[in-house]
Amino acid sequence: MEYVTLNNGVKMPMLGFGVCRIDDLKECEEVVVQAIERGYRLIDTAAIYENEEAVGNAIKRCSVPREELFITSKLWVSDNSYERTKEAFYTSLKKLQLDYLDLYLIHRPLGDYYGAWRALCELYKEGKIKAIGVSNFYPDSLYDLVYNNEIKPAINQIQCHPFMQRVDDLNVSKDLDVRLEAWSPFAVGANNIFQNEVLTRIASKHCKSVAQVILRWHLQRGFVVIPKSIKTNRMEENINVFDFQLDKEDMEAITLLDEKKVEDSKYRLESLKRVYQITD
Ligand code: NDP
Repeated sequence: MEYVTLNNGVKMPMLGFGVCRIDDLKECEEVVVQAIERGYRLIDTAAIYENEEAVGNAIKRCSVPREELFITSKLWVSDNSYERTKEAFYTSLKKLQLDYLDLYLIHRPLGDYYGAWRALCELYKEGKIKAIGVSNFYPDSLYDLVYNNEIKPAINQIQCHPFMQRVDDLNVSKDLDVRLEAWSPFAVGANNIFQNEVLTRIASKHCKSVAQVILRWHLQRGFVVIPKSIKTNRMEENINVFDFQLDKEDMEAITLLDEKKVEDSKYRLESLKRVYQITD
């Protein structure tokens, strides 16, 4: 496993295991145990996934010491305020059966997320969280948060994959020294990503799978990456990406797959409506 040093000195695994949409709690516990046995050290959950307890059970069951694991959870939108954040954090901590978190993120920049950030900063200073960060922040909100606070986020976890490459976000994050982490790194299989012609050609050139090429591309761009799979053979495939390099030509070919959809304001509005469950 390779590690990155965050802007506060904390070391974070470059590749982790995401547990979004693993709703069956027994299954979630089992796959997290399997993932840790296969070398994953970073586990990414969230209050809204409603599986923190299962992740906590897996951490208890596994033979890896707590300090070798890197556990992330996220504060849901309905708790985005100074008053509610600490209670939500301690609820997550209790479900995870832990006494500290490695990383805690504001899930989305909605509601009173400035109040939430103040509470996160206090928890960080008390040592309850090793690193604090945000998720789904666009460059403008990220700049604003950084320039108005003493402590800046260590991580911004955003949707990123070969069809949505987030070039502006990458430039801003380098400027601000905030590390990016890619969610849905495979676009959850959309657009037939695993059969994509360009990715398939690069994969056969390196005797690797398309999934491995995608993860390698993320890592070489400096992203932390958190693929999800309930299948043990895929868990193994997805972590086996530290023994090859994409060359300049491969990287350039993948650059051309970008559809730049994220700048679409309609897309952003649709996503906000989903969060607040607003129907037209
Ligand atoms: P991913 O892009 O990781 O795709 C997961 C899908 O790809 C699953 O259907 C999985 O199927 C399949 N898959 C995994 N590995 C392979 C492989 N090697 N070959 C072929 N298919 C494969 O999507 P997610 O949305 O799950 O994103 C990953 C994580 O990101 C989440 O689990 C969560 O932790 C985080 N996330 C964060 C969000 C945020 O707002 N901050 C939002 C969404 C996700 P199978 O399981 O059957 O193998």
